[in-house]
Amino acid sequence: MNKKNIEKIATERIEILIENALLQIKDNEKLSQSYANLASKIAMRVRIRMPYFTRQLFCKKCKQFIVPGVNSRVRIGRTRVKSIRITCMKCKHVYRKIIVN
Ligand SMILES: [Zn+2]
Repeated sequence: MNKKNIEKIATERIEILIENALLQIKDNEKLSQSYANLASKIAMRVRIRMPYFTRQLFCKKCKQFIVPGVNSRVRIGRTRVKSIRITCMKCKHVYRKIIVN
C-alpha cells in the first residue's frame, strides 16, 4: 500500500472513532475516552494531523477527549478582543481562543 492509501484509511478510521466517541460521551465516558485515544494514536502512528474540528475536542493539557457541555465549558470572553475560553473539566485547564472575523 502506498502512503496516500494509508492516510486515507487512517483518516476514515479516525472519523469513525471520533463519531463513536461523541455518541458515547454521555452514556459511557470510559468507552468514549478509549475511542478518542485510539483515534489520536492512529493519527500519531500514521503521522497525520487530525481534522481541525477533531483537534478542538482534545484538551491541550491533559489530552483527554472533552466535549463542550459534557466535560468542558465554553465561555465567550468579555474583553474587546473577541475570544472564547474553554475550560477542561478534567484538569481545570483554561485556554483561550481568539476569534477573528
Ligand atoms: Zn484537560
